Amino acid sequence: MPGEPQDDCLFCKIVAGHVPATIVRETDTTVAFRDINPQAPTHVLVIPKVHYRNAAELAAGEPAIAADILREAQAVADEDKLESYRVVFNTGSGAGQTVWHTHAHVIGGRGLQWPPG
Ligand code: 5GP
Ligand code: ZN
Repeated sequence: MPGEPQDDCLFCKIVAGHVPATIVRETDTTVAFRDINPQAPTHVLVIPKVHYRNAAELAAGEPAIAADILREAQAVADEDKLESYRVVFNTGSGAGQTVWHTHAHVIGGRGLQWPPG
């Protein structure tokens, strides 16, 4: 069933509390935690508690939660006092996606190049 926890999913395990993470925010529908391999002073992952493979599948299945992710990205930026930040959803292995549970990277706290590499 779309949205159901997956036994083999690292981020479902973080949601369940079975894998530790540095959680910075939690709502009824989302969890935000620091990336284990940060690429900037702020590098937080915002994820839905439900399991979908990528942002588009989440938006199709549970659009209100997709909106929650974007609101939480702003809340993370506010907490870290970021005026500028980037929100990235890597989608597909060619774009660098390695974890198949929707996650927004919230990146900031340093200058960011555009376009990215
Ligand atoms: P992706 O490459 O799929 O867009 O992003 C996955 C992100 O998850 C990577 O930035 C990676 O550093 C992060 N990550 C992988 N394993 C863990 C973990 O166990 N804990 C945390 N906090 N982040 C992780
Ligand atoms: Zn999952």
